[in-house]
Amino acid sequence: MPRSSQILDDAAGPLPAPGPWQSEQAVPLLRNVQRLTAPNPGFMTGPGTNSYLVGDAASGYIAIDPGPADDLHLERLWQAARHADGSGGHIAAIVCTHSHPDHSPGAAPLQALCQARNGHVPVIWGLPSGPHARANSQFAPDRDVADGEHIHLQAPGAQAHTLLAIHTPGHASNHVCLLLLQDGLLFSGDHILNGSTTVIDPPDGNMAHYLDSLDALTRACQAHAVDFILPAHGHPLPDALGAIAKLKAHRLAREAKIAAVMQANPAGDPDQWLPLAYDDVDARLWPVAKRSLLAHVERIQMLQARPAHPV
Ligand SMILES: [Zn+2]
Repeated sequence: MPRSSQILDDAAGPLPAPGPWQSEQAVPLLRNVQRLTAPNPGFMTGPGTNSYLVGDAASGYIAIDPGPADDLHLERLWQAARHADGSGGHIAAIVCTHSHPDHSPGAAPLQALCQARNGHVPVIWGLPSGPHARANSQFAPDRDVADGEHIHLQAPGAQAHTLLAIHTPGHASNHVCLLLLQDGLLFSGDHILNGSTTVIDPPDGNMAHYLDSLDALTRACQAHAVDFILPAHGHPLPDALGAIAKLKAHRLAREAKIAAVMQANPAGDPDQWLPLAYDDVDARLWPVAKRSLLAHVERIQMLQARPAHPV
């Protein structure tokens, strides 16, 4: 089975040329992976949410992260999921990496579109939003995906496409990453981004879980020889293992900085620690950075509360 690096090499060099972002057309990344970016660029979404289609005209497609409930985007996604005769809506399943408003609200209307036009109802997979999810992040899939479960696409005579689900709480408690086994690709949702930093927003977000999930992704990428990470925002990331290691080091460095600021001013509060711990970050980002700071403070206090020599 060819690996993704070879296929990308064959196609257009080590990575597809990162052209200007557009939302009009799906971009083929591999013979069996297309990316369609939703028209929702912004402060928190970068160039917009990447919806991915995995599969081909023979097998049908799995739609990953349909994005916001944007009629035009869902219409384009439906069109891009082509049958062999060129007609759209060849969607066998929809998977949401997590329930934030730029990821999952498009799932139900995309399903309805397939039902109305194609007469079949693709199953919506994912994990239900947790008890602390914000009001705009409520979500209930048709089918809960278990950690380690396979979502399998195979039609008679067609090539199989298999996604391995990896439960990765941290950015959101119901976050799932998906590993395309045949090609060694990791769909990282918002757990790993390219060009921006994932916000950890407690209590649904949790820094200890986030770091543990990075370790789980490292193990999965080693076990399945993953080359590339395809994030929900931004371009593909090469060197999956290196990118994860860098991200973890960045988080731990930030945490060490926050711990030092707290130690220097133990009577202070997060609003006083924030400008010192994030003095290298644009002040306009501080309101968002404060959420991640609170997540680090929670983890620092948890580690401090542990006995030094547990028996
Ligand atoms: Zn998110």
